[in-house]
Amino acid sequence: MATEAVSYERMHLNLKKLGLLSISEVVDSTLESAADKDQSLVEFLDSLLEAEVSARCERTCETKIKMARFPFKKTIDSFDFSFQPSVDRKQVRDLLSLRFLADGVNVVLLGPPGVGKTHLAVAIGMAACQAGHTAYFTTATDLVAGLTKSYTTGTFDTKMHFFGRMRLLIIDEVGYLPLDRQASNLLFQLISRRYESGSSVILTSNRGYGEWGTMFSDPVIASAVLDRLLHRSVTINIRGESYRLKDKRKAGIIGATKPVILPPEEETQAGTAG
Ligand code: ADP
Ligand code: MG
Repeated sequence: MATEAVSYERMHLNLKKLGLLSISEVVDSTLESAADKDQSLVEFLDSLLEAEVSARCERTCETKIKMARFPFKKTIDSFDFSFQPSVDRKQVRDLLSLRFLADGVNVVLLGPPGVGKTHLAVAIGMAACQAGHTAYFTTATDLVAGLTKSYTTGTFDTKMHFFGRMRLLIIDEVGYLPLDRQASNLLFQLISRRYESGSSVILTSNRGYGEWGTMFSDPVIASAVLDRLLHRSVTINIRGESYRLKDKRKAGIIGATKPVILPPEEETQAGTAG
């Protein structure tokens, strides 16, 4: 019969062999506290398995968040709703429940620069990753450049397949740069495919829907994109002041009391676009 010392060593060895590294880390302290608290065997086993499962979930979430390529890691906790009264807390909370993903609903965040469009898009994207979904964040400019390159190098299908695999696609800053005919066409194909497969897109833009005709090279493509995008969608129209400029305004550097809406070129030149 194996002595307790032999069993103990073999237990640690087997935990490592099975890749149960978190259990291996906490088993000693869990054994001690189970003895102290006079826990049942079921309770003991349950706390060990919980440790392993939650550590694995955390690792998976981290990987998903890394793969999503968010420009920053911000959650809803750091979003100041009182600064932006046009954003409906209840609506955002509903989006964070991720029901929209299951329903294949798109989310469009509209508003001038600095009002928190990207912050909200990232917060929802992070929530999706934390729930175990795949997400991918890109700016419209990078997306279109990537699609165009893949088209010219004959890898468009692979690229589309990649985007198709993502449960959530976030396209930031649509409308900061006008799209030529080919770019408009490729973007249409992507939106169209996601629409057909019922996969959600979160899109941010500083242009109201009325301006989309001029943003795309062809108003027919613009309306075809809008048609698919808006069929099942939620629009959050943010009509507030730029959060970026709030401290400057407080300090009296900017005297305006009305929202300052910079044209996109100026924002880009100042290096603060989007
Ligand atoms: P937009 O995409 O609309 O141009 P961002 O989401 O990039 O604006 O916001 C600009 C900066 O201000 C970011 O650092 C963001 O976290 C912050 N920000 C914007 N709105 C808020 C808010 N209501 N509460 C807290 N931070 C905010
Ligand atoms: Mg932005």
